[in-house]
Amino acid sequence: MKKEDIKKLAKNKDFISGIYNYCDRWCERCPFTSRCMNYAMSREYTTDPEASDIDNEKFWQNLSEIFKVTREMLEESAEELGIDIDSIDFEAASQEESIKDKIVENHECCRAAKKYGEMVSELMESEYIPTLRVVGQQERKNTVELKSVDSLIGPAAIEEVVEIIHWYQHFIYIKLMRSVHGTLGNTEDLLEDYPKDSDGSAKVALIAIDRSMAAWTHMHNYFPNLQAQILAILAQLDGLRKRVETIFPEARNFIRPGFDEISSDVS
Ligand code: SF4
Repeated sequence: MKKEDIKKLAKNKDFISGIYNYCDRWCERCPFTSRCMNYAMSREYTTDPEASDIDNEKFWQNLSEIFKVTREMLEESAEELGIDIDSIDFEAASQEESIKDKIVENHECCRAAKKYGEMVSELMESEYIPTLRVVGQQERKNTVELKSVDSLIGPAAIEEVVEIIHWYQHFIYIKLMRSVHGTLGNTEDLLEDYPKDSDGSAKVALIAIDRSMAAWTHMHNYFPNLQAQILAILAQLDGLRKRVETIFPEARNFIRPGFDEISSDVS
């Protein structure tokens, strides 16, 4: 995709600005695909099987093209803002980022989210859950119509429940890393009148936690022999949820573009 094509796409008024910043990246289940510029751009590559195959040269050509276009657009924006990219001390910036990364990794929310991911792996590797997952995915591909995640809060098929757990297993950690990272440095203080990105990311993590807890509650009923392990996982998630709500008290109030503004019955 050329720079001009991206700029043309960006002018499309049907797209909701920034909607992809606070979604769960589950495009397959998203009711806003037609309103998302990120989705439109990714379609450009994923509709071509060669372009989405990591072993195919076309995949790497496209990736290199994306980097080139991104670099060009970055340079253009910097010029408009009067920033000289060459004067930036990248070594100092990189050192600062490494320090921030360590702080983020050691943050209580991130550690708890990482531990949750590990607990899920451990349980899913136990005897018959993986078998069920594979069978479930095969069945879903053939027979089950995809639904939005929230519609699964009621009675749900086991394969859907396992799929939800897997989708959010590491997503919660990643979103909380971004959230905590956003609180370091002074960018958010400078933009104090604007909604905070850290709250937006924390809200998405909270939604993922809520959905995962609902899924684990189903699992609790499906696997009576694994109740102790499942209860431990639910306790871990519940503790994490409370920590996030305490540390990011405004997160639940954050208005996500599109998702919290428009009824999701658009699909
Ligand atoms: S907003 Fe929806 S379509 Fe766009 S990236 Fe997120 S999940 Fe995918």
